[in-house]
Formats: sequence, C-alpha cells, structure tokens
Amino acid sequence: MTSNVRVRVAPSPTGDPHIGTAYQALFNYAFARRHGGQFVLRIEDTDRERSHVSSERAILDSLRWLGLQWDEGPDVGGPHGPYRQSERLELYQDAAYRLLESGHAYRDFMTREELQELRQREQANKTFEHYERRDRDLPSEESEARAAAGEVHTVRLKVPLDGECTLQDLLRGEIRREWAIVDDQVLLKSDGFPTYHLANVVDDHEMGITHVIRGEEWINSVPKHLLLYTALGWEPPVFCHLPLLRNNDANKTKLSKRKNPTSIHYFRDAGFLAPCLVNYLALMGISRAEGEEKMALGDFVDDFDLEDVSLGGPVFDIDKLRWLNARYIREDLSPTALREALREWALSDENLDRIVPLAQPRLQTLSDWGHLTAFFFADDVAPDPELLTLKGKEPAEIVSILQIVTWRLEQLREWNLEALEETLRDCCDRFELKMRDFTRPLYVAISGSASSTPLFDSMLVLGPDLSRMRLRRAVDALGGLSKKRLKATEKQMQALWRD
Ligand code: GLU
Repeated sequence: MTSNVRVRVAPSPTGDPHIGTAYQALFNYAFARRHGGQFVLRIEDTDRERSHVSSERAILDSLRWLGLQWDEGPDVGGPHGPYRQSERLELYQDAAYRLLESGHAYRDFMTREELQELRQREQANKTFEHYERRDRDLPSEESEARAAAGEVHTVRLKVPLDGECTLQDLLRGEIRREWAIVDDQVLLKSDGFPTYHLANVVDDHEMGITHVIRGEEWINSVPKHLLLYTALGWEPPVFCHLPLLRNNDANKTKLSKRKNPTSIHYFRDAGFLAPCLVNYLALMGISRAEGEEKMALGDFVDDFDLEDVSLGGPVFDIDKLRWLNARYIREDLSPTALREALREWALSDENLDRIVPLAQPRLQTLSDWGHLTAFFFADDVAPDPELLTLKGKEPAEIVSILQIVTWRLEQLREWNLEALEETLRDCCDRFELKMRDFTRPLYVAISGSASSTPLFDSMLVLGPDLSRMRLRRAVDALGGLSKKRLKATEKQMQALWRD
C-alpha cells in the first residue's frame, strides 16, 4: 500500500542524541509504515554556534541502532534534498523576501544593545509591551533604502495585533491562542540565517510533509507557523503534538538529564537492547494491559493508530525499562545470540584491544583481570562516598568540583585523548589543585576504586555517556546538589572560566 503520507523527524544537532528524538522518530516511523508513506530525517542546523557535525553523526548512528530507518535523509538522499537546513538557505531567504513584499513581514533595524535595553525595561516593569515592534510600520521605501545601504537588520513576522488563532491538533482537538501574547517572531537573523520557525515551515512545505508529529513543547509555535502558511499561500499539514516524556519524580517534571539518563548512547553503552528500548518508547504513547507490554516493532506498527496515542504525561521509568530488558534477554536470546549481543556491546576484539594494554602492567596473574577491568563492563560502579575525597576539600566542595567537571565534559564535541586531557588539566588549573589530588575523586567515580587503569585512557574507552553518568552518580553519592547549590555552582564555573 502506498499513500501520500509523508512525515519527518527534524532534530537539531546540538548535543547528545536525545531519547525524546527517538520517541518522536518512532511515532513518525510507525505512522509512515502503517500508511505506506515516507519517513524523512531532516537536520535542523540553523543555529550555527550550537550545531555540530559530530552531533549529527551521533543522531544518525543512534536512530539506526534503534532500527528506525528513514527513507530520505542527509545520508541516503532523496527527491527533496538537501536534507540539512544549512544547505537550503536560499529557500528561506526567498520566502522571507516574499513575506516582506506582501507586507506579512518587516525589517527590524534595532541593534542588539537597543533590543536588550528594551527587554530589560520590559522585564523591570513586568509588562508585555511588544518592544520588538518599533520598526513594524516603517514606510517600505525607507526600509528598502536602509537595507540597500547595508544597514544590519533582521526580518520579523507581522503578527495580528488582536483576535485569536484557532488551531487543530489531532490529539487535542481545537486549541485557541490570543494573538496579543504572540511576539513578532524573528524569521531571518542579521546573518541571513533563518530561525527555526521560518526554516521549519518552508521545509515542511517544500518536502511535502503531510503530518507534523512532534513534541508538545512546540504547540505554542503553531500560531506563528499557521500565519506563515497562510501568508505564503500554502496548505498547512496536520499537527499532532505528542505528550512530553517525564521524570519519575513527585512532580512528573519534564525529562531532564539531571534526573534521568537522556542520551540514546547511554542506553546502548549501559547494555540495553535496541528492540527493548524501542518497545519501551512505544509504551510511552500507547497503553497496554499488564503482561502485554512486550511487543515487537512490527506488531506495534501493524496495530498503530495515531489517534490512540494517550495524552497522560508518560513517565520514563528506568526500573521498568530494566525489567523489560531482562525479559528480552531471557525470552528472545538463545545463549549463542546472547554471546553475540555481549560481543557487539563491549566484548568485541576491538574493545578488548583497547583495554588489554591498560590492564597489562597491573596484572600479576591473569585472574586479576576480572576485578581490575570489571568497571569497563558495568553501568554503575556505586562509588563509596568515603573514598570520594580530595585533599583539603570538604565533601560539599568536591560535589561542586565534580559537577563542574561533568559540565565541562558535556561541552566536548569530540571524545578523544587530547580533548579529555586538555579539559581535565584546564579544570585542575582553574581549581588551583595538584593533578594527583584532583584526579583522586575522578578515579573513584569512574572506576569505583582509588587506584586503577590510567584515568584518561579509561574514560576514553568508557566513552562520554558512561563517564559522565558515573560522575553524576558520584555527585549523588556525596549528597547531590540542591537547586540553590546548583545555581551557586553554575556561578562558580562562570567565574572560573571568565576569560
Ligand atoms: N528542530 C526541532 C527540534 O529540535 C524540530 C521541532 C519540530 O519537529 O518541528 O526539536
């Protein structure tokens, strides 16, 4: 069966491949497969400072690992390419120009400083004044002339001053939003790059997307998007906003890496099986009777009805995921298949080749191998808080140091020895510590023991996700950070890295 259904997942390559991206990809994938349509992967890399190719690579790798293969995308091509927004700038610029011509958009010549001043004034007065609208009614000749003379500007969308926007969401029905609280969105930045809103709408149209299935956090963008569709004379797609994944805490807060692992690679490296993770993500959107939770992707697709997605905030409960993973290991793998799965996970020759030279100088007998290298094949090493010490520092200070190190490591684009060494040495210098003292709690956090294989090499082998998770667990083992302390630690980091 073929149909004209075309859906997409449109991640921004600005960090670790997020579990929320996999969740959205899965529901798009299932909808496309169910209806014989096409599933597109588009990379939204218009944020030039934050986008990075290593993040794009990680997103593609992780979705492929999960088995959610796309029909069109930057790596496989397709008739609507290129599939990377940074390669489609002309399309957005043309659209912005058309919107200027038809009076649906205007040039804003405010400088960054002027804008900041107005924003601060608005915040101080606690009002919502639409300070961004200063240039909204400039005569078009003046606007043209100033642009032609090279004056720096952005292009903003002219949002109606009053009335309301009505939008339809497939799961939520009719939603109304007052225009008065919608700002005149920047569409094109002063460097000629589009913002998310313009690029997203232009691409969904150009790529023939029929259904936009994405996270709930984008609902408030729909009024702006609908305005763009109308102004450009295009038919909008069907919108369907999936409920956000939640932490398993008292307030069911939005899934965050402070409380829950969120990187897809963490789950792979911690030894979860891809079909289990996909199965678990499917359960986030559909309800299954107890005992019926285990299902193959193919069965999920066959029964899939987008309108059945339940709106209750789905809680991502890692204990439940472990329980399901155990079922996959017990029920789906023969001992031979399990051995293969272990090999693929961490017992490959390639991985052992990296670990053996690190262990060799520390082995008295071959049987020392087990306890010496166990931490390479574990998720959690449950560090003993008594061992998480640093000469001259109180536990509270050590917590802050470990947290800052984690943040610095999160900034690393490439996980290689040089980058690791540089980052950790830089941290050590800024904390004004001796390397020997500084690395002590790091050893314990990473390996569970105060003496082990060399730290940097061990972290290199473990990879970014497990290494950072262990540092986070060490922070927790020392009592964690309250919201207030977290803020103070952030300030401490800013002060230390001021230059
Ligand atoms: N680039 C957006 C994101 O990172 C896409 C949102 C959408 O699907 O419209 O989530």
